[in-house]
Amino acid sequence: MRLDKFLADMNFGSRKEVKAFIKKGLVRVNGEIVKSDKFQVNELSDEVYFEEEQVVYQKYFYYLMNKPQGVISATVDDFEETVLDLFSDEDYREDLFPIGRLDKDTEGLLVISNDGALAHQLLSPKKHVPKEYYVEVEGLLTTQDVQACATGLKIDGGEICLPAQLQVLSTDEQAECSTALLVLHEGKFHQVKRMMQALGKEVTYLKRVRMGQLLLDEQLALGEYRTLTPEEIRLLQ
Ligand code: URA
Repeated sequence: MRLDKFLADMNFGSRKEVKAFIKKGLVRVNGEIVKSDKFQVNELSDEVYFEEEQVVYQKYFYYLMNKPQGVISATVDDFEETVLDLFSDEDYREDLFPIGRLDKDTEGLLVISNDGALAHQLLSPKKHVPKEYYVEVEGLLTTQDVQACATGLKIDGGEICLPAQLQVLSTDEQAECSTALLVLHEGKFHQVKRMMQALGKEVTYLKRVRMGQLLLDEQLALGEYRTLTPEEIRLLQ
């Protein structure tokens, strides 16, 4: 790989900026200053230093975010704040994208990465990766509702959902509201809200708590993110 691409990939600046850094003699490869941006480095075996900092090549980046309400699951938008806007300048990369979408008013687990193969693995309708949501609704969830979800609910527009596991956590008869966990094995547009609507309930709060075997890290405040551990990355693959 070309030295300027190597450094740009590692977020040291745009291709133009890193070319200037290389020309200035700020970059060493295997102990020698290299001033040609076309210089070929082996990203796995060559030792590259930018001034005093060793640059270790990393192709893929994986983050877990606790998405807050009010931001959209997109990379850029002219009008709305996106989940990528919550990244620090240091961590932000143009190739990052959210794997899957949460509505603007949904909170919780969002994986953000530049690994397209992982995105395919997690989102492909054929893979049925489970996604678990904590949901609060107006209305009282019943055992019939649990049964209806388990057999495959018909939602608006006539679509039939795959069997989903609804576990009612609480019902409050006075306030006429309920809380539940819902596990889906597909990702239809606004699916949780539409399923609850089909049951005659209205979602008042929604949070994703699990994707595959990856759990939301409750230590992350809303809007915070952290890198996934190697074990968590393995769990997703
Ligand atoms: N289902 C919804 O209705 N909204 C989400 O954000 C995710 C699942």
